[in-house]
Amino acid sequence: MESEKSRKVHVPLQYVSHMSCTLCESDFSLEELGESLTCPSCGEKGILDIVYDYQEIKNNFTIEDLRSNTDQTIFRYLPLLPITQKPNIELLNVGNTPLYKALRFEQVHEGDIYIKDDGLNPTSSMKDRASLIAVVKALELGLDTICCSSTGNAASSLAGNSAKAGLDTVIFVPERAPSGKLAQLVIYGAKLIIIAGDYKATFNMSKEVINAYGYYNRNAAINPYLVEGKKTVALEIAEQLDFNIPDWVSISVGDGCSIAGVYKGFYDLLKIGFIKRLPRILGVQATGCKPIYDAFYNDGIVKEAEEDTLADSIAVGIPRNPIKALKAVKETQGEYVHVSDDEILDTIAYLGRCEGIYVEPASGAAFAGVRKAIKEGVIKSEESIVIINTGNGLKDIKSGLKAVALPTAIKPEIREVERMLL
Ligand SMILES: *Cc1c(COP(=O)(O)O)cnc(C)c1O
Ligand SMILES: [Zn+2]
Repeated sequence: MESEKSRKVHVPLQYVSHMSCTLCESDFSLEELGESLTCPSCGEKGILDIVYDYQEIKNNFTIEDLRSNTDQTIFRYLPLLPITQKPNIELLNVGNTPLYKALRFEQVHEGDIYIKDDGLNPTSSMKDRASLIAVVKALELGLDTICCSSTGNAASSLAGNSAKAGLDTVIFVPERAPSGKLAQLVIYGAKLIIIAGDYKATFNMSKEVINAYGYYNRNAAINPYLVEGKKTVALEIAEQLDFNIPDWVSISVGDGCSIAGVYKGFYDLLKIGFIKRLPRILGVQATGCKPIYDAFYNDGIVKEAEEDTLADSIAVGIPRNPIKALKAVKETQGEYVHVSDDEILDTIAYLGRCEGIYVEPASGAAFAGVRKAIKEGVIKSEESIVIINTGNGLKDIKSGLKAVALPTAIKPEIREVERMLL
């Protein structure tokens, strides 16, 4: 590893044409960018977007190819991924999560409601899709350590996927991260650094360390490759619905990378002719932290917000990827909504008892947002919806137990039991 570490090669990526800055809209070839993950002229705010040669993909990749592909991981979408090849080492099996038809959730709604259960990824969140790409990029570059700051899932996911690939991880988390996620980090062997401060402070510390030590940077908004991993959730949804696109897709929004990934996946499929239209995207934020919602319905400029919600994974006061997050909703004629912590907790319990799916609060927001959008007539009764479960509730039992009441222990007597059964 040591000798390769200094080898800074430019690796040709199958169908990637170039990168485009989301801020100044300049285009850059991969050669021009070299190791830089953001726009050379705009700096850190210049988040890059990977642009593909869609005509070439169209010529070489068909729905039939997909149908006959036995690879069930996200690498089945290789022509749409910004990597040179599927690595020839065994990695965690990311993707291929179930798409359930909801049977009781909002039963009066006429249109079909589907749940994409990404809580069933190897480390139990949608972040695995991005982390696996980070691992592949680090391997391509011959780096042996990956670093990130996270409110929890990005970190635990990176730690797990890196462990499987034999890479080291240095992880910065804010103090408020739920213990389930912290436990995952330590179990996966990460070098864990808990910052006594908020996500903002945590992010800035990681940035400093990445610059100083040359670690691979998995900070999602900064690293344009990660959105490309997240987009595989949209590719799977489309494939699972036999390319019949739903009217709406709902996802919760913190930094804005996940929603950007959902948009990018459907956009790619539209560009290569696998689908005929884009779904409308419903972005959901927490009432206690809704900088992107506010920007969307005001002047489009994101201002720093409080981080006052128990939905820790979307408590992001300064979102790092607002341009892509706003675009995802604007370009699809979607909407943003926000939901309170009470609405989230109520929905966690409701979803659990009617569909058998246990979600963490940030993920619960996407479901609560659909209930609200239906109630307010934003989503019409006949419209179909896919709701993405971005994170498993078992990571944050404390919040789950705020949503429901545990019964107290009783004496082992039948009369007592019968009283409970009433
Ligand atoms: C990270 C995360 C989100 C939001 O993703 P962003 O890219 O930060 O917008 C939503 N839900 C869960 C469970 C997450 O871990
Ligand atoms: Zn730029």
